[in-house]
Amino acid sequence: MSSHPDGMQRPIPWLWILLAGLLLLAPGPAGRLLLDLLGGITLTVLLLPVLLGVGGLVAWKVLQSRLKPCPACGFVSAGSAQCPSCGAVLGQEQGPASSNEDVDASSATIDVSSVEVEVMDQSDGN
Ligand SMILES: [Zn+2]
Repeated sequence: MSSHPDGMQRPIPWLWILLAGLLLLAPGPAGRLLLDLLGGITLTVLLLPVLLGVGGLVAWKVLQSRLKPCPACGFVSAGSAQCPSCGAVLGQEQGPASSNEDVDASSATIDVSSVEVEVMDQSDGN
């Protein structure tokens, strides 16, 4: 009973490989058919859990990179800018500085236009 940390890994089936080699060496359509059948079954049995494991791992990694816990309430949401539970803004690494610059620029533009309107009003009054 050796304790492996990863239970998914299986030992290499040297016995099956030896059998396949013997069947390959032995001529005959029956041997080939049996070899194909055994090869297909063993490939499926061996590769299916590996493929499922790799696929699940990749999917989990992608989910983990997209899932973000809310810093305020801890609600985990995927790919949303706001927490659907409490409405807190998520993803503080990207955006707040640039959005502030955008707000400053638009307010500055509004200030300039209002000054222009005031100047035109004064000239009309005179
Ligand atoms: Zn929240």
